[in-house]
Amino acid sequence: MGTALEGLKARLTDVQSLRSAGGLVSWEQQTYMPEGGATTRAGHLAILARLEHEMFTAEETGRLLDTAERELDGASYDDADVSLVRVTKHDYAIRTKVPAALVAEISAETALATQIWAKARAQSDFNAFAPSLEKMVDLTRQLADYLGYASHPYDALLDQYEPGTTTADVVEMFAGLRRDLLPIANAIAERKDSVSDAPIHRNFDVAKQKTFTEQAAAWFGFDFKRGRQDQSPHPFCQSLSPDDVRITTRFIPNFLSSSVFGTMHETGHALYEQGAGLGGLHPILASGTSLGVHESQSRMWENIVGRSRGYWSHFYPQLQALFPESLSDVDMETFYRAINKSEPSHIRVEADEVTYNLHIMLRFEMETDLVSGKLSVKDAPDAWEERSQGYLGLTPPDHKRGILQDVHWSIALIGYFPTYSIGNLLSAQFYETALKQHPSIPDEIAQGRFDTLLGWLRENIHQHGRRYFPQELVQRVTGEKINSRAYIAYLRAKFGEIYGF
Ligand code: ZN
Repeated sequence: MGTALEGLKARLTDVQSLRSAGGLVSWEQQTYMPEGGATTRAGHLAILARLEHEMFTAEETGRLLDTAERELDGASYDDADVSLVRVTKHDYAIRTKVPAALVAEISAETALATQIWAKARAQSDFNAFAPSLEKMVDLTRQLADYLGYASHPYDALLDQYEPGTTTADVVEMFAGLRRDLLPIANAIAERKDSVSDAPIHRNFDVAKQKTFTEQAAAWFGFDFKRGRQDQSPHPFCQSLSPDDVRITTRFIPNFLSSSVFGTMHETGHALYEQGAGLGGLHPILASGTSLGVHESQSRMWENIVGRSRGYWSHFYPQLQALFPESLSDVDMETFYRAINKSEPSHIRVEADEVTYNLHIMLRFEMETDLVSGKLSVKDAPDAWEERSQGYLGLTPPDHKRGILQDVHWSIALIGYFPTYSIGNLLSAQFYETALKQHPSIPDEIAQGRFDTLLGWLRENIHQHGRRYFPQELVQRVTGEKINSRAYIAYLRAKFGEIYGF
Protein backbone atom coordinates (compact mmCIF):
# COMPACT_ATOMS: atom_id res chain seq x y z
CA MET A 1 0.00 0.00 0.00
CA GLY A 2 1.29 3.46 -0.89
CA THR A 3 1.83 6.26 1.56
CA ALA A 4 -0.69 9.04 2.20
CA LEU A 5 1.72 11.42 0.49
CA GLU A 6 1.55 9.33 -2.69
CA GLY A 7 -2.22 9.21 -2.46
CA LEU A 8 -2.36 12.95 -1.93
CA LYS A 9 -0.12 13.63 -4.92
CA ALA A 10 -2.22 11.44 -7.20
CA ARG A 11 -5.39 13.16 -6.05
CA LEU A 12 -3.92 16.66 -6.50
CA THR A 13 -2.71 15.73 -9.98
CA ASP A 14 -6.31 14.94 -10.88
CA VAL A 15 -7.48 18.21 -9.32
CA GLN A 16 -4.90 20.10 -11.33
CA SER A 17 -5.97 18.30 -14.53
CA LEU A 18 -9.54 19.45 -13.97
CA ARG A 19 -8.30 23.01 -13.42
CA SER A 20 -6.25 22.89 -16.62
CA ALA A 21 -9.17 21.50 -18.60
CA GLY A 22 -11.32 24.36 -17.26
CA GLY A 23 -8.57 26.79 -18.15
CA LEU A 24 -8.43 25.51 -21.72
CA VAL A 25 -12.19 25.73 -22.14
CA SER A 26 -12.14 29.27 -20.74
CA TRP A 27 -9.20 30.29 -22.97
CA GLU A 28 -11.04 28.98 -26.03
CA GLN A 29 -14.18 30.85 -24.98
CA GLN A 30 -12.25 34.11 -24.99
CA THR A 31 -10.35 33.54 -28.23
CA TYR A 32 -12.04 31.37 -30.88
CA MET A 33 -15.51 30.34 -29.68
CA PRO A 34 -18.31 31.44 -32.02
CA GLU A 35 -20.94 33.62 -30.36
CA GLY A 36 -23.48 30.80 -30.53
CA GLY A 37 -21.40 28.64 -28.20
CA ALA A 38 -21.96 30.83 -25.15
CA THR A 39 -24.88 28.99 -23.55
CA THR A 40 -23.55 25.46 -23.77
CA ARG A 41 -20.06 26.69 -22.86
CA ALA A 42 -21.30 28.04 -19.54
CA GLY A 43 -22.45 24.49 -18.75
CA HIS A 44 -19.05 23.01 -19.66
CA LEU A 45 -17.27 25.42 -17.37
CA ALA A 46 -19.74 24.87 -14.55
CA ILE A 47 -19.41 21.07 -14.50
CA LEU A 48 -15.61 21.23 -14.61
CA ALA A 49 -15.61 23.74 -11.74
CA ARG A 50 -18.01 21.57 -9.73
CA LEU A 51 -15.97 18.40 -10.21
CA GLU A 52 -12.81 20.23 -9.24
CA HIS A 53 -14.48 21.71 -6.16
CA GLU A 54 -15.90 18.37 -5.04
CA MET A 55 -12.63 16.51 -5.50
CA PHE A 56 -10.48 19.16 -3.83
CA THR A 57 -12.74 19.86 -0.85
CA ALA A 58 -13.64 16.19 -0.20
CA GLU A 59 -12.98 14.82 3.29
CA GLU A 60 -10.58 12.36 1.69
CA THR A 61 -8.30 15.25 0.66
CA GLY A 62 -8.28 16.51 4.25
CA ARG A 63 -7.53 13.04 5.61
CA LEU A 64 -4.63 12.57 3.17
CA LEU A 65 -3.27 16.01 4.07
CA ASP A 66 -3.28 15.24 7.79
CA THR A 67 -1.69 11.83 7.37
CA ALA A 68 0.91 13.05 4.89
CA GLU A 69 1.80 15.83 7.31
CA ARG A 70 2.51 13.24 10.01
CA GLU A 71 4.55 11.14 7.57
CA LEU A 72 6.70 14.17 6.80
CA ASP A 73 7.16 15.19 10.43
CA GLY A 74 10.73 16.36 10.93
CA ALA A 75 11.47 17.15 7.29
CA SER A 76 12.85 20.59 6.43
CA TYR A 77 10.50 23.53 5.88
CA ASP A 78 12.00 24.00 2.39
CA ASP A 79 11.36 20.41 1.32
CA ALA A 80 9.13 20.27 -1.78
CA ASP A 81 6.78 17.70 -0.22
CA VAL A 82 6.49 19.70 3.00
CA SER A 83 5.63 22.77 0.93
CA LEU A 84 3.04 20.80 -1.00
CA VAL A 85 1.26 19.85 2.22
CA ARG A 86 1.64 23.29 3.82
CA VAL A 87 0.34 25.27 0.82
CA THR A 88 -2.43 22.80 0.02
CA LYS A 89 -3.60 22.83 3.65
CA HIS A 90 -3.93 26.62 3.40
CA ASP A 91 -5.99 26.30 0.18
CA TYR A 92 -8.05 23.48 1.65
CA ALA A 93 -8.87 25.48 4.77
CA ILE A 94 -10.06 28.44 2.68
CA ARG A 95 -12.14 26.31 0.33
CA THR A 96 -13.77 24.18 3.04
CA LYS A 97 -14.60 26.95 5.49
CA VAL A 98 -17.16 28.45 3.16
CA PRO A 99 -20.48 26.59 2.93
CA ALA A 100 -21.42 25.34 -0.54
CA ALA A 101 -24.68 27.32 -0.33
CA LEU A 102 -22.79 30.62 -0.03
CA VAL A 103 -20.44 29.68 -2.89
CA ALA A 104 -23.49 28.92 -5.05
CA GLU A 105 -25.23 32.15 -4.02
CA ILE A 106 -22.16 34.25 -4.84
CA SER A 107 -21.84 32.53 -8.19
CA ALA A 108 -25.53 33.08 -9.07
CA GLU A 109 -25.59 36.69 -7.83
CA THR A 110 -22.41 37.66 -9.65
CA ALA A 111 -23.74 36.27 -12.94
CA LEU A 112 -26.70 38.60 -12.49
CA ALA A 113 -24.72 41.56 -11.14
CA THR A 114 -22.25 41.52 -14.05
CA GLN A 115 -25.08 42.00 -16.54
CA ILE A 116 -26.65 44.75 -14.44
CA TRP A 117 -23.28 46.44 -14.03
CA ALA A 118 -22.52 46.36 -17.79
CA LYS A 119 -25.83 48.06 -18.54
CA ALA A 120 -25.51 50.53 -15.65
CA ARG A 121 -22.01 51.44 -16.76
CA ALA A 122 -23.08 51.98 -20.37
CA GLN A 123 -25.81 54.34 -19.12
CA SER A 124 -23.64 55.80 -16.33
CA ASP A 125 -26.48 55.02 -13.92
CA PHE A 126 -25.17 54.26 -10.43
CA ASN A 127 -28.65 53.79 -8.92
CA ALA A 128 -29.27 50.88 -11.29
CA PHE A 129 -26.18 49.11 -9.92
CA ALA A 130 -26.55 50.14 -6.25
CA PRO A 131 -28.76 47.17 -5.15
CA SER A 132 -26.27 44.75 -6.75
CA LEU A 133 -23.38 46.43 -5.01
CA GLU A 134 -25.26 46.19 -1.68
CA LYS A 135 -25.66 42.49 -2.34
CA MET A 136 -21.97 42.03 -3.21
CA VAL A 137 -20.83 43.87 -0.09
CA ASP A 138 -23.20 41.79 2.02
CA LEU A 139 -22.06 38.50 0.45
CA THR A 140 -18.36 39.29 0.74
CA ARG A 141 -18.90 40.28 4.38
CA GLN A 142 -20.51 36.89 4.98
CA LEU A 143 -17.60 35.29 3.16
CA ALA A 144 -15.13 37.11 5.40
CA ASP A 145 -16.99 35.88 8.50
CA TYR A 146 -16.73 32.27 7.36
CA LEU A 147 -13.07 32.63 6.37
CA GLY A 148 -12.26 34.28 9.69
CA TYR A 149 -9.98 37.21 10.45
CA ALA A 150 -8.07 38.75 13.33
CA SER A 151 -8.85 42.46 13.09
CA HIS A 152 -10.62 43.56 9.90
CA PRO A 153 -13.05 41.59 7.71
CA TYR A 154 -11.05 42.86 4.72
CA ASP A 155 -8.09 40.76 5.99
CA ALA A 156 -9.96 37.60 5.08
CA LEU A 157 -10.84 38.86 1.60
CA LEU A 158 -7.33 40.06 0.84
CA ASP A 159 -5.84 36.78 2.06
CA GLN A 160 -7.60 34.92 -0.76
CA TYR A 161 -5.49 36.78 -3.33
CA GLU A 162 -2.38 37.73 -1.37
CA PRO A 163 -1.91 35.11 1.35
CA GLY A 164 -0.38 36.51 4.52
CA THR A 165 -0.86 40.19 3.69
CA THR A 166 -3.19 42.07 6.05
CA THR A 167 -5.21 45.26 5.76
CA ALA A 168 -2.78 46.88 8.23
CA ASP A 169 0.15 45.93 5.95
CA VAL A 170 -1.54 47.63 3.01
CA VAL A 171 -2.43 50.71 5.06
CA GLU A 172 1.22 51.06 6.05
CA MET A 173 2.46 50.41 2.52
CA PHE A 174 0.07 52.96 1.03
CA ALA A 175 0.81 55.64 3.63
CA GLY A 176 4.44 55.76 2.52
CA LEU A 177 3.50 55.45 -1.11
CA ARG A 178 0.99 58.28 -0.96
CA ARG A 179 3.40 60.58 0.86
CA ASP A 180 6.11 60.11 -1.78
CA LEU A 181 3.99 59.66 -4.87
CA LEU A 182 1.86 62.80 -4.74
CA PRO A 183 4.85 65.21 -4.99
CA ILE A 184 6.08 63.30 -8.07
CA ALA A 185 2.63 63.39 -9.68
CA ASN A 186 2.33 67.11 -8.87
CA ALA A 187 5.76 67.92 -10.31
CA ILE A 188 4.76 66.16 -13.53
CA ALA A 189 1.40 67.94 -13.64
CA GLU A 190 3.18 71.31 -13.52
CA ARG A 191 5.14 70.27 -16.63
CA LYS A 192 2.47 68.24 -18.36
CA ASP A 193 2.90 69.84 -21.77
CA SER A 194 6.59 68.97 -22.02
CA VAL A 195 5.81 65.43 -23.25
CA SER A 196 3.52 64.47 -26.14
CA ASP A 197 2.22 61.00 -26.86
CA ALA A 198 0.95 61.92 -30.34
CA PRO A 199 3.48 59.69 -32.18
CA ILE A 200 2.05 56.47 -30.75
CA HIS A 201 -1.46 57.47 -31.86
CA ARG A 202 -0.61 57.51 -35.55
CA ASN A 203 -1.62 54.67 -37.83
CA PHE A 204 0.07 51.28 -37.27
CA ASP A 205 -0.73 48.34 -39.53
CA VAL A 206 -2.16 45.53 -37.41
CA ALA A 207 -0.36 42.70 -39.24
CA LYS A 208 2.97 44.43 -38.63
CA GLN A 209 2.08 45.04 -34.97
CA LYS A 210 1.53 41.29 -34.71
CA THR A 211 4.96 40.61 -36.20
CA PHE A 212 6.64 42.98 -33.77
CA THR A 213 4.85 41.73 -30.65
CA GLU A 214 5.64 38.07 -31.42
CA GLN A 215 9.28 38.97 -31.75
CA ALA A 216 9.17 41.07 -28.58
CA ALA A 217 7.79 38.13 -26.60
CA ALA A 218 10.49 35.82 -27.99
CA TRP A 219 13.28 38.36 -27.28
CA PHE A 220 12.30 38.40 -23.61
CA GLY A 221 12.52 34.60 -23.55
CA PHE A 222 8.93 33.42 -24.10
CA ASP A 223 9.18 29.84 -25.37
CA PHE A 224 6.77 29.41 -28.31
CA LYS A 225 7.27 25.64 -28.17
CA ARG A 226 5.64 25.77 -24.74
CA GLY A 227 3.17 28.54 -25.38
CA ARG A 228 1.35 30.63 -27.94
CA GLN A 229 -0.02 34.08 -28.57
CA ASP A 230 -3.53 34.80 -29.83
CA GLN A 231 -5.96 37.70 -29.89
CA SER A 232 -8.77 38.53 -27.46
CA PRO A 233 -10.74 41.66 -26.56
CA HIS A 234 -9.06 41.80 -23.12
CA PRO A 235 -5.45 40.59 -22.97
CA PHE A 236 -4.72 37.80 -20.49
CA CYS A 237 -2.35 34.93 -19.71
CA GLN A 238 -3.67 31.42 -19.19
CA SER A 239 -1.36 28.68 -18.01
CA LEU A 240 -2.53 25.11 -18.60
CA SER A 241 0.81 23.83 -17.33
CA PRO A 242 4.36 25.24 -17.40
CA ASP A 243 4.72 23.56 -20.81
CA ASP A 244 1.60 25.17 -22.28
CA VAL A 245 1.22 28.84 -21.41
CA ARG A 246 -1.03 31.01 -23.56
CA ILE A 247 -1.05 34.77 -23.83
CA THR A 248 -3.35 37.05 -25.76
CA THR A 249 -3.10 40.59 -27.00
CA ARG A 250 -5.27 43.11 -28.83
CA PHE A 251 -4.35 45.34 -31.72
CA ILE A 252 -5.60 48.92 -32.04
CA PRO A 253 -4.49 50.60 -35.31
CA ASN A 254 -4.07 54.09 -33.82
CA PHE A 255 -2.66 53.08 -30.43
CA LEU A 256 0.61 51.21 -30.67
CA SER A 257 1.12 50.93 -26.90
CA SER A 258 -1.90 48.67 -26.48
CA SER A 259 -0.35 45.70 -28.29
CA VAL A 260 3.34 46.36 -27.61
CA PHE A 261 3.14 46.94 -23.86
CA GLY A 262 0.16 44.62 -23.45
CA THR A 263 2.25 41.83 -24.96
CA MET A 264 5.24 42.62 -22.78
CA HIS A 265 2.94 42.57 -19.74
CA GLU A 266 1.40 39.20 -20.54
CA THR A 267 4.84 37.84 -21.49
CA GLY A 268 6.00 38.74 -17.98
CA HIS A 269 3.17 36.65 -16.54
CA ALA A 270 3.96 33.85 -18.99
CA LEU A 271 7.69 33.74 -18.21
CA TYR A 272 6.77 33.22 -14.55
CA GLU A 273 4.42 30.36 -15.45
CA GLN A 274 6.88 28.74 -17.88
CA GLY A 275 9.63 29.03 -15.26
CA ALA A 276 7.46 27.55 -12.51
CA GLY A 277 8.08 24.12 -14.00
CA LEU A 278 11.84 24.31 -13.47
CA GLY A 279 11.88 23.42 -9.77
CA GLY A 280 10.48 19.91 -10.09
CA LEU A 281 7.43 20.80 -8.04
CA HIS A 282 4.10 18.97 -8.01
CA PRO A 283 1.91 20.39 -10.84
CA ILE A 284 -0.43 22.03 -8.32
CA LEU A 285 2.48 24.16 -7.03
CA ALA A 286 3.98 24.84 -10.48
CA SER A 287 2.38 28.26 -10.84
CA GLY A 288 2.68 31.81 -9.49
CA THR A 289 2.53 32.19 -5.72
CA SER A 290 0.13 35.15 -5.54
CA LEU A 291 -1.50 37.79 -7.70
CA GLY A 292 0.85 40.45 -6.34
CA VAL A 293 4.02 38.50 -7.12
CA HIS A 294 2.57 37.63 -10.53
CA GLU A 295 1.92 41.27 -11.24
CA SER A 296 5.49 42.12 -10.21
CA GLN A 297 6.71 40.00 -13.10
CA SER A 298 4.38 41.50 -15.69
CA ARG A 299 5.08 45.06 -14.58
CA MET A 300 8.82 44.53 -14.49
CA TRP A 301 8.95 43.35 -18.10
CA GLU A 302 6.37 45.84 -19.32
CA ASN A 303 7.55 48.96 -17.50
CA ILE A 304 11.02 48.68 -16.00
CA VAL A 305 12.42 46.82 -19.01
CA GLY A 306 9.96 47.56 -21.83
CA ARG A 307 9.53 51.28 -21.23
CA SER A 308 13.24 51.89 -20.61
CA ARG A 309 15.50 54.00 -22.78
CA GLY A 310 17.95 51.10 -22.97
CA TYR A 311 15.40 48.74 -24.49
CA TRP A 312 14.43 51.20 -27.21
CA SER A 313 17.97 52.32 -27.91
CA HIS A 314 18.39 48.79 -29.22
CA PHE A 315 14.96 47.95 -30.68
CA TYR A 316 13.65 51.30 -31.91
CA PRO A 317 15.46 51.10 -35.29
CA GLN A 318 13.62 47.82 -35.95
CA LEU A 319 10.28 49.32 -35.00
CA GLN A 320 10.98 52.36 -37.15
CA ALA A 321 11.88 50.16 -40.10
CA LEU A 322 8.62 48.26 -39.70
CA PHE A 323 6.52 51.45 -39.63
CA PRO A 324 8.43 53.99 -41.78
CA GLU A 325 5.24 55.90 -42.70
CA SER A 326 4.44 56.62 -39.04
CA LEU A 327 7.84 56.76 -37.34
CA SER A 328 10.49 57.92 -39.82
CA ASP A 329 10.23 61.51 -38.53
CA VAL A 330 10.13 60.47 -34.85
CA ASP A 331 13.53 60.08 -33.21
CA MET A 332 14.19 57.56 -30.44
CA GLU A 333 14.15 60.15 -27.68
CA THR A 334 10.78 61.54 -28.76
CA PHE A 335 9.39 58.00 -28.91
CA TYR A 336 10.80 57.15 -25.47
CA ARG A 337 9.12 60.21 -23.98
CA ALA A 338 5.86 59.48 -25.78
CA ILE A 339 5.56 55.97 -24.33
CA ASN A 340 6.22 57.37 -20.85
CA LYS A 341 3.80 60.29 -20.82
CA SER A 342 2.27 60.64 -17.36
CA GLU A 343 -0.99 62.43 -16.67
CA PRO A 344 -3.79 61.95 -14.14
CA SER A 345 -6.78 60.42 -15.88
CA HIS A 346 -10.14 58.99 -14.92
CA ILE A 347 -9.67 55.43 -16.10
CA ARG A 348 -7.49 53.10 -14.03
CA VAL A 349 -6.58 50.69 -16.83
CA GLU A 350 -5.27 53.56 -18.94
CA ALA A 351 -3.20 55.07 -16.13
CA ASP A 352 0.59 55.46 -16.37
CA GLU A 353 3.22 54.19 -13.95
CA VAL A 354 3.06 57.26 -11.69
CA THR A 355 -0.67 57.74 -11.34
CA TYR A 356 -1.74 54.08 -11.45
CA ASN A 357 -1.31 53.43 -7.75
CA LEU A 358 -3.38 56.48 -6.83
CA HIS A 359 -6.34 54.74 -8.46
CA ILE A 360 -5.69 51.67 -6.33
CA MET A 361 -5.44 53.61 -3.06
CA LEU A 362 -8.80 55.20 -3.79
CA ARG A 363 -10.39 51.77 -4.36
CA PHE A 364 -8.72 50.24 -1.31
CA GLU A 365 -10.15 52.96 0.94
CA MET A 366 -13.59 52.58 -0.63
CA GLU A 367 -13.56 48.80 -0.19
CA THR A 368 -12.35 48.72 3.40
CA ASP A 369 -14.98 51.32 4.36
CA LEU A 370 -17.76 49.47 2.52
CA VAL A 371 -16.84 46.13 4.08
CA SER A 372 -16.51 47.53 7.61
CA GLY A 373 -19.84 49.35 7.24
CA LYS A 374 -18.23 52.77 7.70
CA LEU A 375 -19.46 53.72 4.24
CA SER A 376 -22.91 52.94 2.86
CA VAL A 377 -23.50 52.11 -0.79
CA LYS A 378 -25.80 55.14 -1.03
CA ASP A 379 -22.94 57.46 -0.06
CA ALA A 380 -20.34 55.66 -2.17
CA PRO A 381 -20.49 57.91 -5.29
CA ASP A 382 -19.82 61.03 -3.20
CA ALA A 383 -16.96 59.30 -1.40
CA TRP A 384 -15.53 58.28 -4.78
CA GLU A 385 -15.66 61.84 -6.12
CA GLU A 386 -14.06 63.25 -3.01
CA ARG A 387 -11.20 60.75 -3.16
CA SER A 388 -10.76 61.18 -6.89
CA GLN A 389 -10.28 64.87 -6.26
CA GLY A 390 -7.86 64.16 -3.41
CA TYR A 391 -5.74 61.60 -5.25
CA LEU A 392 -5.98 62.63 -8.89
CA GLY A 393 -7.15 66.22 -8.72
CA LEU A 394 -10.05 65.21 -10.95
CA THR A 395 -13.80 64.90 -10.51
CA PRO A 396 -15.22 62.21 -12.78
CA PRO A 397 -17.59 63.75 -15.35
CA ASP A 398 -19.94 60.78 -14.93
CA HIS A 399 -20.18 57.45 -13.06
CA LYS A 400 -19.07 55.57 -16.14
CA ARG A 401 -15.65 57.18 -15.79
CA GLY A 402 -15.90 57.04 -12.00
CA ILE A 403 -17.32 54.47 -9.64
CA LEU A 404 -18.78 52.24 -12.36
CA GLN A 405 -15.62 51.79 -14.44
CA ASP A 406 -14.30 48.48 -13.05
CA VAL A 407 -15.85 45.04 -13.38
CA HIS A 408 -14.42 43.79 -10.04
CA TRP A 409 -17.25 44.68 -7.66
CA SER A 410 -19.87 43.10 -9.89
CA ILE A 411 -18.05 39.76 -9.66
CA ALA A 412 -17.50 40.00 -5.90
CA LEU A 413 -13.77 40.63 -6.29
CA ILE A 414 -13.48 42.83 -3.22
CA GLY A 415 -9.97 42.66 -1.74
CA TYR A 416 -8.32 42.16 -5.12
CA PHE A 417 -7.24 45.70 -6.11
CA PRO A 418 -4.28 46.03 -3.69
CA THR A 419 -2.51 43.17 -5.49
CA TYR A 420 -1.96 45.48 -8.49
CA SER A 421 -0.03 47.96 -6.35
CA ILE A 422 1.80 45.20 -4.51
CA GLY A 423 2.93 44.07 -7.97
CA ASN A 424 4.21 47.54 -8.84
CA LEU A 425 6.16 47.87 -5.60
CA LEU A 426 7.61 44.38 -5.88
CA SER A 427 8.63 44.86 -9.51
CA ALA A 428 11.07 47.56 -8.41
CA GLN A 429 12.11 45.73 -5.23
CA PHE A 430 13.00 42.56 -7.17
CA TYR A 431 14.68 44.47 -9.99
CA GLU A 432 16.81 46.43 -7.53
CA THR A 433 17.92 43.17 -5.91
CA ALA A 434 18.75 41.63 -9.31
CA LEU A 435 20.88 44.68 -10.15
CA LYS A 436 22.81 44.45 -6.90
CA GLN A 437 23.88 40.95 -7.91
CA HIS A 438 24.22 41.70 -11.64
CA PRO A 439 25.01 45.38 -12.25
CA SER A 440 25.43 44.63 -15.97
CA ILE A 441 21.70 44.04 -16.54
CA PRO A 442 20.83 47.55 -17.86
CA ASP A 443 23.75 47.44 -20.31
CA GLU A 444 22.64 44.02 -21.49
CA ILE A 445 19.09 45.28 -22.02
CA ALA A 446 20.53 48.08 -24.15
CA GLN A 447 22.12 45.34 -26.27
CA GLY A 448 18.84 43.48 -26.58
CA ARG A 449 19.88 40.73 -24.16
CA PHE A 450 17.67 39.56 -21.32
CA ASP A 451 19.19 36.23 -20.31
CA THR A 452 20.91 37.45 -17.12
CA LEU A 453 17.73 39.06 -15.82
CA LEU A 454 15.55 36.11 -16.83
CA GLY A 455 18.07 33.66 -15.36
CA TRP A 456 18.03 35.56 -12.07
CA LEU A 457 14.22 35.60 -11.99
CA ARG A 458 14.07 31.89 -12.77
CA GLU A 459 16.50 31.00 -10.06
CA ASN A 460 15.17 33.26 -7.34
CA ILE A 461 11.44 33.46 -8.08
CA HIS A 462 10.05 31.38 -10.95
CA GLN A 463 11.35 27.92 -10.09
CA HIS A 464 9.89 28.19 -6.58
CA GLY A 465 6.34 28.38 -7.97
CA ARG A 466 3.95 28.32 -5.01
CA ARG A 467 6.45 26.62 -2.69
CA TYR A 468 6.71 29.73 -0.49
CA PHE A 469 3.97 32.11 0.56
CA PRO A 470 4.46 35.53 -1.06
CA GLN A 471 5.77 37.33 2.04
CA GLU A 472 8.27 34.53 2.64
CA LEU A 473 9.45 34.70 -0.94
CA VAL A 474 9.90 38.48 -0.83
CA GLN A 475 11.84 38.23 2.42
CA ARG A 476 14.07 35.46 1.06
CA VAL A 477 14.78 37.27 -2.21
CA THR A 478 15.11 40.89 -1.08
CA GLY A 479 15.79 40.56 2.66
CA GLU A 480 12.93 43.01 3.26
CA LYS A 481 9.18 43.18 3.62
CA ILE A 482 7.15 44.56 0.72
CA ASN A 483 7.68 48.33 0.76
CA SER A 484 7.57 51.34 -1.53
CA ARG A 485 11.16 52.60 -1.27
CA ALA A 486 12.60 51.00 -4.43
CA TYR A 487 9.53 51.85 -6.48
CA ILE A 488 9.59 55.52 -5.46
CA ALA A 489 13.34 55.76 -6.16
CA TYR A 490 12.73 54.23 -9.60
CA LEU A 491 9.90 56.65 -10.44
CA ARG A 492 11.77 59.69 -9.15
CA ALA A 493 14.85 58.91 -11.22
CA LYS A 494 12.98 58.03 -14.40
CA PHE A 495 10.31 60.71 -14.41
CA GLY A 496 12.53 63.38 -12.88
CA GLU A 497 14.80 62.94 -15.88
CA ILE A 498 11.95 62.88 -18.44
CA TYR A 499 10.11 65.87 -16.99
CA GLY A 500 13.11 67.77 -15.65
CA PHE A 501 12.52 68.05 -11.90
ZN1 ZN B 1 -1.26 41.51 -15.12
